[in-house]
Amino acid sequence: MTEVQAADIQGRLAAVRQALDAAADRAGRRVELMAVSKTFPAEAVEAAAAAGQRIFGENYAQEGCAKIEALRAAHPELPLVWHFIGPLQSNKTRMVAEHFDWVDSVDRLKIAERLSSQRPETMPDLNIMIEVNIDGEASKSGVAPGALEELLEAVRGLPRLKLRGLMTIPAPAQTHDEQMKPLAAMRALFDRLAPRYGLDVLSMGMSADMLTAVEAGSTMVRVGSAIFGPRHYPGRA
Ligand SMILES: *Cc1c(COP(=O)(O)O)cnc(C)c1O
Repeated sequence: MTEVQAADIQGRLAAVRQALDAAADRAGRRVELMAVSKTFPAEAVEAAAAAGQRIFGENYAQEGCAKIEALRAAHPELPLVWHFIGPLQSNKTRMVAEHFDWVDSVDRLKIAERLSSQRPETMPDLNIMIEVNIDGEASKSGVAPGALEELLEAVRGLPRLKLRGLMTIPAPAQTHDEQMKPLAAMRALFDRLAPRYGLDVLSMGMSADMLTAVEAGSTMVRVGSAIFGPRHYPGRA
């Protein structure tokens, strides 16, 4: 990572933060910014952290754990907060439970049970969000809205986990109104369930829809490419 690349990241981060703060002011709500650093090197995280960013999101267990270790080794003084936001398979739960502060993509009880039993006693409780498939796309991860309460009930009793909120990734939509539909449905679901389950985070909004998401009620947006630039996946066109 060159100095120019680091400065690019910091410039884009400042622009995102400014737009987000303005939207949060309009909404009259505090909104946190997660920087999604998947596929980018630890140096990209360092550049964002040097500009004050503290919350980071990673999608892939091995890549994320390696980055967490690299950042802790290089900057033990930085209080970075790491969210796991990708699909999580059973054979990766242990490394995630041993490294991350949050898992935002829990959509099955079995995964929550494994995280609960594998979270080290020496670490604080693992913060948990349930991922909801709000628009019912067949191919997507996330629990169906109709099955959400049963999962919340089961997860809230598990030791070493702290149930914190709901996360969703709506299907990409072009217009403001199309973006708003699933986001508003998610907000309604959150408002209904948050008091009963003590939820305080509604994670929705990515680079393309973060301002609409804040308008709809998001308390945490997950922004990758608008901060770090376009992603290049090795082995993919
Ligand atoms: C990659 C990813 C993001 C960030 O997407 P951008 O469009 O680059 O902002 C947010 N949330 C999840 C779950 C992701 O996988």
